[in-house]
Amino acid sequence: MRVLITGAAGFLGSHLCDRFLADGHEVVGMDNFLTGSPDNLAHLIGEPRFRFIEHDVTNYIYVEGPLDGVLHFASPASPVDYLEFPIQTLKVGSLGTHKTLGLAKKKGARYLLASTSEVYGDPQVHPQPESYWGHVNPIGPRGVYDEAKRFAEAMTMAYHRYHGVDVRIVRIFNTYGPRMRPYDGRVVSNFIVQALRGEPLTVYGDGSQTRSFCYVSDEVEGIYRLFMSDAQGPVNIGNPAEFTMVELAQLVIEATGSTSSIEFRPLPTDDPKVRRPDITRAREELGWEPQVSLADGLRRTIPYFRKLVEEQGAVARAL
Ligand code: NAD
Ligand code: UDP
Repeated sequence: MRVLITGAAGFLGSHLCDRFLADGHEVVGMDNFLTGSPDNLAHLIGEPRFRFIEHDVTNYIYVEGPLDGVLHFASPASPVDYLEFPIQTLKVGSLGTHKTLGLAKKKGARYLLASTSEVYGDPQVHPQPESYWGHVNPIGPRGVYDEAKRFAEAMTMAYHRYHGVDVRIVRIFNTYGPRMRPYDGRVVSNFIVQALRGEPLTVYGDGSQTRSFCYVSDEVEGIYRLFMSDAQGPVNIGNPAEFTMVELAQLVIEATGSTSSIEFRPLPTDDPKVRRPDITRAREELGWEPQVSLADGLRRTIPYFRKLVEEQGAVARAL
């Protein structure tokens, strides 16, 4: 197969490129480096089955040659990022989804949309099955991301119903691992970097809010299986093991061997109180479930951040 992956220079997009290449496929990566980095693709330089196009997917997309798949992963994903780039976030979720769907239609390619657990908002049903319609504040600061993704799902289903495009929708729950930006503001990267620097871990609110964290290799395997499957309608891919932010902070302190303390900061507006995927569909239709526990995943992720923190320390000492 020959597939286009947008957001290829990002955290998940770059791992997804690796997954397709590992199975012998050809990959065209596309990104405008808004929140991604060429470093995430540096290991693919010289790979004959990989090609990169620098492009903003909110503009008309041209890709030469046939495509069997279009996977739309371009979008800021950390709350800090999408609050810094609210208009770009709305545009890539709406115009970017429209452009990538148009490309899939023209090429006769299968389309996969990277959606999110944020479509459930601050959920009133727990855990969240795909049938839940969500509880989102459209005019709050997180609305730029949540509503863009909800629009993207609606647009994807309209292209399926009206144009007959073969579509998949993955609702991704909090994922972590190597290639996250150390200062992207997400909780796992924040806590690990703070612990490694011996700084206090910043827990927002009273830290009783929960999230369910999926290690990147599990997430990418679930997405790959969904793309290859016949599953229709959205599918949750995430790890259902649920932790409070205080529990996560303690785990990170333990796993890094840090002496850091915990510091409480104000809770951001509309921060969901709980989040946990119901993964019955993924289990039954994809034969998928996560293999890596949070403790294991943290152990695999910490060396990546340790190297970055040490390099930064060396630069700071040299100045
Ligand atoms: P990321 O910020 O690391 O990657 C996003 C990539 O998209 C970046 O490389 C960025 O430069 C690129 N991009 C943004 N706007 C673009 C545009 N207009 N044109 C071209 N490229 C553009 O984030 P990520 O964690 O890898 O997330 C990837 C996708 O997965 C996003 O769609 C996100 O909404 C979704 N998702 C991720 C998570 C998670 O926990 N990581 C959870 C839910 C959903
Ligand atoms: N959070 C925190 N400290 C941080 C960063 C985030 O306590 O330094 C909290 C945040 O308020 C939320 C949870 O961690 O309750 C997950 O935040 P993240 O930004 O990773 O993603 P979200 O799930 O909110 O999209």
